[in-house]
Amino acid sequence: MKKGKFIVISGPSGVGKGTICNRLLNELNAWYSVSTTTRAPRDGEINGVNYFFVTKEEFENKIKEGEFLEYNIYNGNYYGTSKEIVVDKINEGINVFSEIDVNGAHNIKKVFPDALLIYIAPPSIEVLKERLISRGTESIEKINQRLEIAEKELKEVDFYDYVVINDDLDKATDEVRNIITKEI
Ligand code: 5GP
Repeated sequence: MKKGKFIVISGPSGVGKGTICNRLLNELNAWYSVSTTTRAPRDGEINGVNYFFVTKEEFENKIKEGEFLEYNIYNGNYYGTSKEIVVDKINEGINVFSEIDVNGAHNIKKVFPDALLIYIAPPSIEVLKERLISRGTESIEKINQRLEIAEKELKEVDFYDYVVINDDLDKATDEVRNIITKEI
């Protein structure tokens, strides 16, 4: 049986990757890998939908129990991808979408060498800053930390299969859709 494809969508917070994933999930009949994190939920985020929100202790127990395919610390919080369910879906021939950072993408490539890696980039760091400020979910201090990470990430995107610049959500979604349909 043909295995599913592991599709990694990376990009800084505020770049619109969540919106792009949501638009394409139903269309492409893919399954979304809900990550586990120790960061606090933002307004409107739902446990089990956006993330599984756990304490640091719970996360570290899961690491010890080998529950993660990959995990990373991003801006002071743990984020990880659950192993069992993702591997099952891939083996059942189901395509899996995962929103993970650059480190996570490197690690996923080691486990699934034919994973499709797509990086969603902002048109500029200034535009990203404006989007994060208008989203209003983080303090300016946190926003600046995230912008620093984004600048670093943007220098490391060469190993991605595709980089899509989101200066227009509809156009960026079309581009990601075309890449995925071509690759699967
Ligand atoms: P946010 O706090 O904005 O939801 O996510 C922060 C960063 O963590 C984003 O780059 C996001 O893609 C990444 N991330 C989310 N889930 C995972 C995961 O399971 N593993 C890794 N490595 N990164 C993740």
